Amino acid sequence: MHIPDIIIAIDGYSSTGKSSFAKLIAREFGFRYLDSGALYRGVTLYAMEHGLIGADGAIDVKALGEALPYIDLDFVAGSNGSKTYMGSRCIEKEIRSLDVSQKVSPVSALPQVREYVDRKLRELGSRRRVVIDGRDIGVTVFPDAELKIFMTADPEVRAMRRMKEMQGKGEKVEFADVLANVKERDYIDSHRKVSPLAKADDAVVLDNSEMTLEDQMVWIRKLLAGKFGEN
Ligand code: C5P
Repeated sequence: MHIPDIIIAIDGYSSTGKSSFAKLIAREFGFRYLDSGALYRGVTLYAMEHGLIGADGAIDVKALGEALPYIDLDFVAGSNGSKTYMGSRCIEKEIRSLDVSQKVSPVSALPQVREYVDRKLRELGSRRRVVIDGRDIGVTVFPDAELKIFMTADPEVRAMRRMKEMQGKGEKVEFADVLANVKERDYIDSHRKVSPLAKADDAVVLDNSEMTLEDQMVWIRKLLAGKFGEN
């Protein structure tokens, strides 16, 4: 099946497996994967390394705003999938640290930062044939994307997946705490002022509560065949 050079936007709740799904789609159909969260994490790492986030968590908004045009973030394809770069430096590992994870939300809520990331994504996606995951891609960044998917799953299922992931990294966690955090992030993501998590009117909902990644691939192959297949 030949898929034309479209834009695939994948939005949805946290811990629904958006990035794993997006990466598989990219691999199977020869698309470039753009990880919007990685760009927010990259800006956060820059701010941390340049002393723009105080010990109390206060962000030097003015200095960060002035620095933004000079933060050179990009995705570079390698044998092991695509990696995030800042200039010539690979920052893939640092941006996944707990420290960055704890600081990224307030940074990503700044309108200047959102404008910067949106511009970057549009620039990277201008040649199309990209699959992008995030919270506001189908509504704000690429409202003209040919295929929009909105991912959701029961909070309990997402909390269980997240708990297993954390336990796999050796962290000790209680299910009730993880579930509370999942629900809290759903609330914050959907209620923040700037670009809240939202389903585009023309997005297809994918509830993967009872689906494996392979089930999801079967689902999208069918969807794409219906849209672009020969018959
Ligand atoms: O997806 P990931 O966890 O890497 O995203 C990191 C953070 O960046 C999220 O917690 C969210 O605050 C922010 N984000 C966002 N809009 C996006 C993608 C990520 O606000 N499109």
